[in-house]
Amino acid sequence: MSAASTVVAIVYLLSACLFIVGLKQMSRIRTARRGNLVSAVAMALAVAGTLAEMGLVDYRWILGGVVVGSAIGAVGALRVPMTAMPEMVALLNGAGGAASALVGAAFFYTHVVEAVREGTVAEIVGGASALTLFLSVWIGAITASGSLVAFAKLSGRMKGAPILLPGRHVLNVMLLLGAIAMGIVFAWFAPGTSLGATLLWALFATSLVLGVTLVIPIGGADMPVVVSLLNSYSGVAASMTGFVIGNNMLIIAGAMVGAAGLILTQIMCKAMNRSLASVVLGGFGGEVSAEAGKSEYQNVRAAGVEEAAMVLEAARNVVIVPGYGLAVAQAQHAVKELADLLGRRGINVAYAIHPVAGRMPGHMNVLLAEADVPYEQLWEMERTNSEIRSTDVVLVLGANDVVNPAAQNTPNSPIYGMPIIEAHQARHVFVVKRSLASGYAGIKNELFELPNTNMIFGDAKRVLQDLVAELKQL
Ligand code: NDP
Repeated sequence: MSAASTVVAIVYLLSACLFIVGLKQMSRIRTARRGNLVSAVAMALAVAGTLAEMGLVDYRWILGGVVVGSAIGAVGALRVPMTAMPEMVALLNGAGGAASALVGAAFFYTHVVEAVREGTVAEIVGGASALTLFLSVWIGAITASGSLVAFAKLSGRMKGAPILLPGRHVLNVMLLLGAIAMGIVFAWFAPGTSLGATLLWALFATSLVLGVTLVIPIGGADMPVVVSLLNSYSGVAASMTGFVIGNNMLIIAGAMVGAAGLILTQIMCKAMNRSLASVVLGGFGGEVSAEAGKSEYQNVRAAGVEEAAMVLEAARNVVIVPGYGLAVAQAQHAVKELADLLGRRGINVAYAIHPVAGRMPGHMNVLLAEADVPYEQLWEMERTNSEIRSTDVVLVLGANDVVNPAAQNTPNSPIYGMPIIEAHQARHVFVVKRSLASGYAGIKNELFELPNTNMIFGDAKRVLQDLVAELKQL
């Protein structure tokens, strides 16, 4: 081993260790920011090591790619509002998948097609590396098109509710079996033939279709599982591409993304009480969602901020349930101000965090961290529910699906079985939102009709500011 390749190996090793430390730190709220920084350093080392290792690549091309890519990425990241982060994550997953598929295809053309012309293909592509090449294109293309559909659904460009094509399961199985058959022929018989190139194109096209047909039937509340699963796919595709181009760092980093994404998928499945198979096969609960959101509300009681302020003032324990609407209203600082005010009056305040509240895993944690809400005030769903019956007031701020009792007592509801924050069990519930409109799952919320619930209609930030002003006068 030359001195240069030893240095590259050490850089890769250091980078892999930092990735592991970074991932570990990201699993705790307190250390998550540091984890992000450590992982960014790891990525910078990985890129530097790869550039040094791939010395034959023309650096002008690399520089051009870095400049254009960084400019697009920086402008996109700076302009994206917090509430659109999940769409951005979906796009980034898709970009990762597309990059893997394209690198795999480019490798095929530069090494295999060229080599066929020169008659040296047998030395270059064995069955095993042809298989990894096939997998990188297959999984990468599925991730790319699936992520674009997820992006369209999350950004409202496509109907969020499940789109159920007739015979979709048969179609998916056929696309899956077709890809496996093409993979076997490609890897064992035809990598270095013109049939190989045709098969690769056919695979590319069918995988793009499969990505779409796998994601369109998934809708409503199940999207978090899909986004984390696509994240995992993008890692596996990158890892396969690492095998194709012989880059150890890509293999390691891709495998880590794949594993971390899979663990996150498990966590999301647990949070939604879904089996992975039911989400992957698609269309879970779709048949009932269409009519489940249509019913009219009856006996809804509205309250003003004066009444709410008086009830809050008299409470001993208050639990705040933040949801997507809090992020839309950018009310994180206003809610912290209210909580501090109540705290100074000797009232115990906690924030109940549902794992799928908002539009991305950890959304509420990130939002509240922005306002420096103390970590010890953040309660997980299990703890909240164990203490909810002795809670005087629950203040639901822009949350809807995560407090919907239909998940527990309406078997034909699309969210049936999903664990919720049991706000309805508290003595008094105030729900702050602008209207009776549904949440992401598109269904009616039975909580709004219960006798212990009062709606406070308005923008969450505005209502919180009015509450603070009112409390200060009491
Ligand atoms: P929901 O989407 O159920 O509800 C949000 C509510 O916020 C709406 O009903 C809306 O009502 C209200 N709202 C919007 N803007 C404002 C505002 N300015 N002020 C006050 N209220 C506002 O949110 P939840 O957090 O309860 O649930 C998250 C949902 O998103 C779940 O179904 C989850 O599965 C899904 N999801 C989660 C992802 C994740 O990873 N966390 C990813 C993808 C989907 P109104 O218009 O009347 O104000």
